[in-house]
Amino acid sequence: MNKLKYCFASMLFLFGAVVFAQEVEEKKEREPGHTNQSRFKQLYEEFSTPNTYRSASGAPGPDYYQQQADYKMDIELDDKNAKIYGNETITYTNNSPDDLEFLWVQLDQNVREKDTKSALRNGNGVNFAYQASNFAQTYITESFDGGFNIESVKDASGKPLSYTVNQTMMRINIPQALKSGDQMSFSIKWWYNIPDHTVNRARSGYEYFPKDGNRAYVIAQFFPRMAVYNDVEGWQNHQFWGSGEFALPFGAYEVNITAPADHVVDATGVLQNRKEVFTKEMMKRYEQAKKSYDKPVLIVTQTEAEAKEGSFSEKKKTWKFKTEPGNLVRDFGFASSRKFIWDMQAVKLANRDVMAVSLYPKEGNPLWEEQSTKAVAQTLVTYSKHTFDYPYHKAISVHAKNQGMEYPMICWNYGRPNEDGTYSDRTKYGMISVIIHEVGHNFFPMIVNSDERQWGWMDEGLDTFMQYLAEQDFGKNYPDVIAPNAKYPSRRGEASKIVPYMSGDQSRISPIMSNPENVYQLGPNAYGKPATALNILRETVMGEELFDHAFKTYAQRWKFKHPTPEDFFRTMEDASAVDLDWYWRGWFYTTDYVDIGVKGVKKYYVSGDKTKQMKEYMAARNLTDADLPPLVYLVEEGSEDYNEGLKGKAPSEVAPTLKEFMMDNMTAEERAQVKEPKFFYEVTFNKPGGIPMPLIVEYKYADGTTESVTYPPEIWRKNDAEVKRVLSSEKELVGIVIDPKLETADIDTTNNSWPIKDEKSDFDQFKEKVKGK
Ligand SMILES: [Zn+2]
Repeated sequence: MNKLKYCFASMLFLFGAVVFAQEVEEKKEREPGHTNQSRFKQLYEEFSTPNTYRSASGAPGPDYYQQQADYKMDIELDDKNAKIYGNETITYTNNSPDDLEFLWVQLDQNVREKDTKSALRNGNGVNFAYQASNFAQTYITESFDGGFNIESVKDASGKPLSYTVNQTMMRINIPQALKSGDQMSFSIKWWYNIPDHTVNRARSGYEYFPKDGNRAYVIAQFFPRMAVYNDVEGWQNHQFWGSGEFALPFGAYEVNITAPADHVVDATGVLQNRKEVFTKEMMKRYEQAKKSYDKPVLIVTQTEAEAKEGSFSEKKKTWKFKTEPGNLVRDFGFASSRKFIWDMQAVKLANRDVMAVSLYPKEGNPLWEEQSTKAVAQTLVTYSKHTFDYPYHKAISVHAKNQGMEYPMICWNYGRPNEDGTYSDRTKYGMISVIIHEVGHNFFPMIVNSDERQWGWMDEGLDTFMQYLAEQDFGKNYPDVIAPNAKYPSRRGEASKIVPYMSGDQSRISPIMSNPENVYQLGPNAYGKPATALNILRETVMGEELFDHAFKTYAQRWKFKHPTPEDFFRTMEDASAVDLDWYWRGWFYTTDYVDIGVKGVKKYYVSGDKTKQMKEYMAARNLTDADLPPLVYLVEEGSEDYNEGLKGKAPSEVAPTLKEFMMDNMTAEERAQVKEPKFFYEVTFNKPGGIPMPLIVEYKYADGTTESVTYPPEIWRKNDAEVKRVLSSEKELVGIVIDPKLETADIDTTNNSWPIKDEKSDFDQFKEKVKGK
């Protein structure tokens, strides 16, 4: 079959088709406004030039470096007054080749200063409805004073250091430059008022429970943190306005947290004084949990937690946490409350065991004791499989109202049942999904440490993509949790889920490659669209094998390092031999959408009789039959040649025996086995959408069979608007469907089939029904 096609096609190329293609067809196909090659042009102009820090392969270069910031902190939580006090020593190592004249420290809590400019950065008109608490915060009550109070900044010898605060950034004016390769220590003493995160929509704070008078704290961004200095941005000191998240260097942490003695505290890092802060009973249960791989063990039961709700201990207890040597951490968070129920189980990864942990007040039950730790465990297993074994010793999911926020080893998650303990499927799946998502952030950006302030999609997009895979695994592993034989109802990931966004109002869409502060719809922009883009890349463009290897290569190359978008884009190509510049360009650098259709089908007959066009061609050049090799012609149904000689004949009557033209070196046997096509069609596909995609076509034949063909995206490289394909077949073609499984996020499927579906038929049927009644 292949040999025949080759032979036949090359003949046409040599003669009639050359004329047709050059003189008529190409002119007709090019439409104004389409600069055809640009969509497949390599991204040299968009990408930064590779250098010795970052290689063209997408791997860290030979001179790659990163700074290190180690923290020793004493923290005190004043539960009565909802204040937090800290005294921290930062040891900063300058691994860069540059001498640094000053250091930048992030004061994220200053976004909650009384006179914060963050609230003034958005233009706002009158809304049609307001959440009462937000309205009161904005227009009625005096604004909350939640900024840092810096009491002192001192060098290692205790001498005050001069500093300048610019909103959420503090410049430490060191007396001499910190030389390349040198290290310096300095301390900061601070305190601030903890906000009620349920009112302030903060990523950190407390929830107050009026029924028992308790608070549950989820505390993060709570200490002055070093900014990143690197080869890409210099100091990443872009202000924290609220949407763009964080950029943080790696380091080691030693943190002592003093809280009321009846509180349960868990945090980033390994608990150092477990025997001091645990009761004997808790120790016993903890040892059981370390061996329990199938279900969580309660360390603090609901009964025990409830019993403490009225105790309000005046005593204090200090919980000591320390990160493991060699296991770098980029941040620190903790949770504290006397209301917390606590459960844990062990999780087996390829080469090690880790602990899946949950903390929740009774308000989270029964949902939390049923699902949280299960979701944590599934996340660790699925993500580890696709990246690297989870390197930390535990992953904690803390229940906090309306929260979904991540820190190393610990995260806050929503999902609260009704007061009577009942809950909807929506609450259940929302809770499982947010836990998978936030625990998943341990991988992106806590370990593969991208710059969230600049690129929201690098952590949110990659994490949401992985979340989809983990949710699907969860559905398979816990069929009792979801409806029988159903898939896990993922909210994001599948191609069809992003269509409403990509087909929406262009003036409210930004490219994925945008700063999170500057986009209108951060959810679809930084989460949904990149997740879908990666899912399509995996399932439709690259295939699972090539994608998974390349994605894992990226994760392993940049584990405990700071990647940029180019490092990701380049690695995916480097490890797969798939040119994806067109894909990154379409999906990540533009707001284009996918829309591919079938425009029309022409039927042709193969004939041995000279066509009118051929006769003219020969006459113009004074050619005779003797000057030419044997020729065959494709004659369009309805054309002049067709009407004169072929009309009414069956294809078999007009086709010359094409087998005559087969390769000389084929044996008679081989020749006999070759099937001879009877039907020829020219199919025109068009692409109203900007993004080139593989052209996935299902051909349907009169005998009821179908054939699926995927033409590579490069089919669009020379003509961005329209392409044609000649289809040869032994069977009569009766239908064509583009993207039959809806895997490309095609925004308009009304042009995806031939013959064109009668759009009115449903309505007509409906009318007839109504009339009949
Ligand atoms: Zn996220």
